[in-house]
Amino acid sequence: MRIILLGPPGAGKGTQAAGIVNKYNMPHISTGDIFRKNIKEETELGKKAKEYMDKGLLVPDELTVGLVTSRISEPDCANGFMLDGFPRNVSQAKHLDVFLKETNIKLDNVINIEVDKNILVERAVGRRICKSCGATYHVEFNPPKTEGVCNVCGGELYQRQDDTEETVSKRIQVYLDETKPLADYYANEGIISNINGQQSIDKVFEDIVNALGSEK
Ligand code: ADP
Ligand code: ADP
Ligand code: ZN
Repeated sequence: MRIILLGPPGAGKGTQAAGIVNKYNMPHISTGDIFRKNIKEETELGKKAKEYMDKGLLVPDELTVGLVTSRISEPDCANGFMLDGFPRNVSQAKHLDVFLKETNIKLDNVINIEVDKNILVERAVGRRICKSCGATYHVEFNPPKTEGVCNVCGGELYQRQDDTEETVSKRIQVYLDETKPLADYYANEGIISNINGQQSIDKVFEDIVNALGSEK
């Protein structure tokens, strides 16, 4: 199965990705995670990406598209993959379509997680992530059993540098201007599933599983 997770910052893509990967056993490809790893390792790509990420802007397509197409060409993606945070504008979607056509691959589903703008800031600002395994928490909505400590692996939790109120607001605006049009783009392709993201984490997951079906 080949799927895309679409939705504004703070919609719950990363949170749901963990459950989906677990159930369907497919690689989780998050461009945000790839960029953050490069920043941590101080690579050239990381240095360039950071400039944009700190401002809440999209990293340019030249640095993003090739990264994803080469990742999905790797052997572990042969039977399926889940893209999280890519594509993020119509140009990236078109590049992806061209690549998939060339390689004779079809997307099965685009899971579009919908959440009202006014609750996104609160979600993103309260987000905490495990340094070791990447598990996502929220100080209020999904707190770990022990403050600051990951339930899964005992790792230390941290707050993303771009999860400040100011940067999140900018990212939401960028989403509305550049990413939201993708919902229409994929609706036209007939592969979109709109999911109400303003429900419990478990209920959102249930709706996603219903949309994806039992297919692998
Ligand atoms: P995204 O990857 O779309 O930016 P995340 O999965 O990181 O979003 O979720 C953003 C924040 O909101 C996290 O702190 C997460 O724990 C919390 N969250 C995710 N889903 C829900 C939900 N259904 N209800 C309340 N909080 C949620
Ligand atoms: P969120 O879901 O909370 O917006 P992500 O981890 O998906 O967070 O993205 C964090 C940042 O990484 C974005 O604000 C953007 O700067 C950059 N980024 C991630 N994916 C892309 C992409 N496909 N194209 C351009 N920039 C991206
Ligand atoms: Zn952990």
